Amino acid sequence: MTTATITQPSTATQTFINSPQKLLIDGKRVDAVSGETFEVLDPSNNNVLCQVPKGAKEDIDRAVQSARKAFDTGPWRKLTASERGKLIWKLADLIEERAEEFAQLETLDNGKPLAVARAADIPLTIDHFRYYAGLATKIHGETIDLSVPYAPDSHFFDFTLREPMGVVGQIIPWNFPLLMAAWKLGVALAAGNCVVLKPAEQTPLSALRLAGLFADAGFPDGVVNIVTGFGDAGAALAEHHGVNKVAFTGSTKVGHEIVKASAGNLKRISLELGGKSPSIVFADADLELAASGVSGAIFFNQGQCCCAGSRMLIHKKIYQELVERVSDLAKKIKLAPGMHSDSDMGPLVSTEQQDRVLNYIRSGVSEGAQTLIGGNTPGGDMEGGCFVEPTVFGNITQDMKIVQEEIFGPVVVASPFEDIEEAIAKGNDTAFGLAASVWTNDINKAHKVARGLQAGTVWVNCHNIFDAAAPFGGYKKSGYGREMGIHALESYTQIKNVIIQIH
Ligand code: NAP
Ligand code: MG
Repeated sequence: MTTATITQPSTATQTFINSPQKLLIDGKRVDAVSGETFEVLDPSNNNVLCQVPKGAKEDIDRAVQSARKAFDTGPWRKLTASERGKLIWKLADLIEERAEEFAQLETLDNGKPLAVARAADIPLTIDHFRYYAGLATKIHGETIDLSVPYAPDSHFFDFTLREPMGVVGQIIPWNFPLLMAAWKLGVALAAGNCVVLKPAEQTPLSALRLAGLFADAGFPDGVVNIVTGFGDAGAALAEHHGVNKVAFTGSTKVGHEIVKASAGNLKRISLELGGKSPSIVFADADLELAASGVSGAIFFNQGQCCCAGSRMLIHKKIYQELVERVSDLAKKIKLAPGMHSDSDMGPLVSTEQQDRVLNYIRSGVSEGAQTLIGGNTPGGDMEGGCFVEPTVFGNITQDMKIVQEEIFGPVVVASPFEDIEEAIAKGNDTAFGLAASVWTNDINKAHKVARGLQAGTVWVNCHNIFDAAAPFGGYKKSGYGREMGIHALESYTQIKNVIIQIH
């Protein structure tokens, strides 16, 4: 039997946590105007890690002014695309040099297993910045042939410029704190925008650590501003008339607020609002692969993934067997604080999130779903943390809340289907459309279902595969716009058409 080891925060991590935390505005590290701070908690035990500035409307104002100045009159616009790319690449290098510190901060603040932060969050963040460092020099317009009648001996030359939006407000969630910052910042900076970033109140630490690297990477003051705070700071950013575009990832409820707030100056918006993604398993699938795949699809990151496979749709011939396999895998998941070497699943991000998930579990039970496994919080050492057991529900109906609403925790519902048509219909039967996975060895079925699903991403015989080059975003109520890949440029640039008459 192996015993778990517990990683103690490194000197670098501890030094950062113990240092005074500051906003980043106009290249300076400053307190909130109000002087107020709030507590950052470790969700594995709810101990206070440190205090961070409670930025509010006046701090957002200062940050927007700083970004405005950097965009409108600063040196930033004069940099070439290649120079912007080099700065972003340098930022990636600086993160890489501090990879362990970032991983530890992510685990302490968010709760996720350190092994996951080390293997996924941080390398994906670095890779993401490098992808956009390279893309900075590949942003270009086009030339267009015009057919307008023209005077003899003259004609028209038409070309487009792909220009930055200007000042971009970015509001991010707590599930992958640093990676979500990278998804937002990489493309914005590659395209030449200036940014005000508002991290989630539950997980501000990695963004504040990142704040310390922009100057060293060579970014001019004010190009990136970071304001920690609560929802009112996010709302002030979404409303601000000095902001040209807002990018938001989070709940559908706040997504609606962002849309309303954007109306004041008709700022552009992109939204990534989560989902209720199906994992669809056909009888011809490799059941071992499918069971571990659909289990990972929901339980990875404690189920706190916008694209979590939270609905298992299983062909009736293999329904019983697959549900048993997934339940057996769920039983083996070791719950433990993220800093413990044997942790497969850490706590949820906060007591509030734990309560929200437990309320959904209660609602499932009261609506008549059958709890096949889990459904509780673990006792013992873990009682003081925000843990919830991996939970599988059977005997569900399509109208139940646990089937229709995003739970954002380690809770999956299972239901059988008879044929492809029913699988597609059930797969599409929620208000969301973020992602889906299909598990089959029949290439025709895979193509048919991929085309039939209303989802921004369809994975076949895999789930949760992300790459900086692959576009990600939602159909239906899962949002507008795409992040990652070249497609993200659409929502961070605007097209200027230039028509020249040549005499
Ligand atoms: P949330 O309220 O939507 O928070 C996301 C971000 O928006 C945070 O930075 C938040 O700041 C900020 N915010 C809150 N109110 C705002 C407002 N009126 N205007 C502008 N920004 C605002 O999400 P949550 O409460 O943390 O989580 C609730 C549920 O959202 C989860 O259970 C899950 O279903 C869903 N969610 C989805 C994703 C996703 O990846 N799609 C991520 C996180 C959560 P504060 O942190 O200060 O509130
Ligand atoms: Mg925290």
